[in-house]
Amino acid sequence: MRLGILGGGQLGRMLALAAHALGLEPLAYDPSPEACAGDVARLVTGAFDDTRALQKFASEVDALTYEFENIDAALLDDLGERGVPFDPSPRFLARSQDRLEEKRALVELGVPVTPHRPVSSRAELEEAFDALGGAIVLKTRRLGYDGRGQIRIESRAALDDAWARLGSRPLIAEVLVPFRTEVSLVATRGRDGRMVFYPLTENRHRHGILRLSRAPVADPALEALAPIAEDYLRRIAEHYGYVGTLTVEFFVDPDGRLVANETAPRVHNSGHWTIDGAKTSQFANHVRALAGYPLGPSRPHGHTAMVNCVGALPDPRAVLALPGAQLHDYRKAPRPGRKVGHVTLVGESPFDPEADPLKTLLRLAPFRVD
Ligand code: AMP
Repeated sequence: MRLGILGGGQLGRMLALAAHALGLEPLAYDPSPEACAGDVARLVTGAFDDTRALQKFASEVDALTYEFENIDAALLDDLGERGVPFDPSPRFLARSQDRLEEKRALVELGVPVTPHRPVSSRAELEEAFDALGGAIVLKTRRLGYDGRGQIRIESRAALDDAWARLGSRPLIAEVLVPFRTEVSLVATRGRDGRMVFYPLTENRHRHGILRLSRAPVADPALEALAPIAEDYLRRIAEHYGYVGTLTVEFFVDPDGRLVANETAPRVHNSGHWTIDGAKTSQFANHVRALAGYPLGPSRPHGHTAMVNCVGALPDPRAVLALPGAQLHDYRKAPRPGRKVGHVTLVGESPFDPEADPLKTLLRLAPFRVD
């Protein structure tokens, strides 16, 4: 069976590795001949707006998925109608591409979201700033990731500069949530409608980029949120006839409640720990779902911490000397702000960033953003 993956970055690479293990043949489509999935999948180069090249790619595979989310909605429809199974749900992907539409989709299903307002003029920005309480995050509705395309605004004096930087595009202003912490839930839904949920994962970001994920959450107050998060993901997955892995990132607000920040209709960085730390990884379960195979158990092996390597890789000898450490090098050219690998620690008790071995790992794993 040939599995086509739109996008050839690290997510495509890890999907391709999981596909190989099951005897599937992975093909990746990416504009760059250097795309790192090309090491482990047949790489087809083409632009994401090249309809003919995409149609040709779709015609050469038995199932189609994506790791790159910003494909034009009309093209998505077209690919969805080609007769090749195209999952996860292009209908949900089209909504999740736009932060405003994404929030509407969540609200329709009763999933709480951050108070927000669309912004399309300087006057609307000022109104939103006032209406949302004078502390906001201004984001581009489309194409933002890893903290790009978003600015925190906590004073009226900062509005002009933010407008000058982002104002040329459709925007959304959100309340700046004084969150207790951030968590995410990764789940996979099979073709038969069965779902498996990974444990709730606690995440820390720096400069809008994921730095650390720990799973399962250790705090009982957070653990109690897992069934609520599962219910939210189930609502989304069932409503959209979703097949594959789905992720939702949440803030835990000052009252201890979940507020959805962002959805990812795909495997997700906060689920990378599942490769080493769960019975079946998020990648393996995504591939199983696409192939129509039964899903594997999502139980964790113990406790896991995952640290992203941003801008550069650590010395393998140093990180692999840490107990329970596994290094994943994506073989990407190092560049500031770019995720080039991750390191996972697996152990029997929760990992504390202030204590070894996680403390040392956080020192060894680079985080270079400029
Ligand atoms: P996003 O691209 O929306 O996932 O944002 C990246 C990170 O920026 C989040 O994980 C948060 O750490 C922070 N962030 C984004 N939006 C908000 C918000 N409305 N309030 C507080 N922090 C935010």
